[in-house]
Amino acid sequence: MKTIKDLEIEKKKVIIRCDFNVPIKEGKIVDDTRIIGALETINYCLDHNAIIILLSHLGRVKEKEDLEKNNLEPVAKRLAELLKKDILFSDKTRGEELEETIKSMKPKDIILIQNTRYEDLDGKKESSNDEELGAYWASLGDVFINDAFGTIHRAHASNVGIASHLPSAFGFLIEKELNALKELDHPEHPFVVILGGAKVSDKIGVIENLVTKADKILIGGGMAFTFLKAKGNEIGKSLLDEENVEFCKKILSEYEDKIVLPLDAAVTNEYSNDEEYRVKDIDNIDSDEMGLDIGPKTEQLFEEICKDAKILVWNGPLGVYEFSKYKENTDKLLKYLVDHKIKAILGGGDIVAAATTAGYKEKLYHVSTGGGATLEYLEGKTLPGVEAIK
Ligand code: AMP
Repeated sequence: MKTIKDLEIEKKKVIIRCDFNVPIKEGKIVDDTRIIGALETINYCLDHNAIIILLSHLGRVKEKEDLEKNNLEPVAKRLAELLKKDILFSDKTRGEELEETIKSMKPKDIILIQNTRYEDLDGKKESSNDEELGAYWASLGDVFINDAFGTIHRAHASNVGIASHLPSAFGFLIEKELNALKELDHPEHPFVVILGGAKVSDKIGVIENLVTKADKILIGGGMAFTFLKAKGNEIGKSLLDEENVEFCKKILSEYEDKIVLPLDAAVTNEYSNDEEYRVKDIDNIDSDEMGLDIGPKTEQLFEEICKDAKILVWNGPLGVYEFSKYKENTDKLLKYLVDHKIKAILGGGDIVAAATTAGYKEKLYHVSTGGGATLEYLEGKTLPGVEAIK
């Protein structure tokens, strides 16, 4: 993997594609985790006397009204506070003024350019990897570092476009993400996969890609009920992904020994945190009940299987974790993995939110920040942002 350490950056103009897609409310940054995450690569460039040009997207820009709320300027201010140094900000994504400012910059100077997706107002130039735009941004620097993992599964002008014109490498954030995920390409065994979340349809690619490699796939969450339905169980009013019952039947018939389904569930009559719930064996669900979490026997069984795992990947919560009543078993299993130091990679999306809220994020082997990017990696797809730098 080509990383920033493989490039000569001393006194060079280094363009870094960061992921500063942070939540901003009324001009205030609500969570600066992503800005903090970018500091390692930026500091490395500062240590090497580079002239630093930062690019990032923020939100989606479809019409003029989207511009102001997706203005990156607050990020420049926060970055200045974190680095304790002045940060230049260009409110335009291109133009003479920007070019002149960059020309006048000295080693260790930093400029943040306005949201790359401002270019989407003009024919989706950023998001469609417009050739001219990628070449233009590349012309502003000498080398390119991609450190935005969240968009690595997309070919945009600010990642793939620039990379096709300049010597390019990954920053520390992407290096860490890819190194962890790469461990799943040829996993140590036993390799355990935990899948939860709402719909089977979101996880078909992941199941198809991992089922041959995994020793066990533990299935919880709403998606377990489509598998149970495929087995002929009564699932009552539980979440059903009707279109994928056949897919589940096929997987169950081919990989019966690998797929582990819930033995029991927390069931109730209403989709709400206010109703009481009962724990029922999976064969006893009534037609007016719905399962909103796995039950304690299932959680115990999952612990038993995870105990011996040499590596494990987990995507999707085991219950409706947004409701305090139904997050218990997701939290319990997370705690088990932490307490037993099981090498667990959490693969994007809601399970990351669950682990963060429960305070386990720093204690797990790797918590991937990618969302869509992580899911596509787990599906075995090639990621354009990775290919562009290879
Ligand atoms: P995902 O985005 O695939 O990680 O799915 C996360 C969503 O799955 C969350 O919003 C959960 O509320 C939902 N979920 C988990 N378990 C269940 C369940 N038993 N019934 C309905 N939804 C569930």
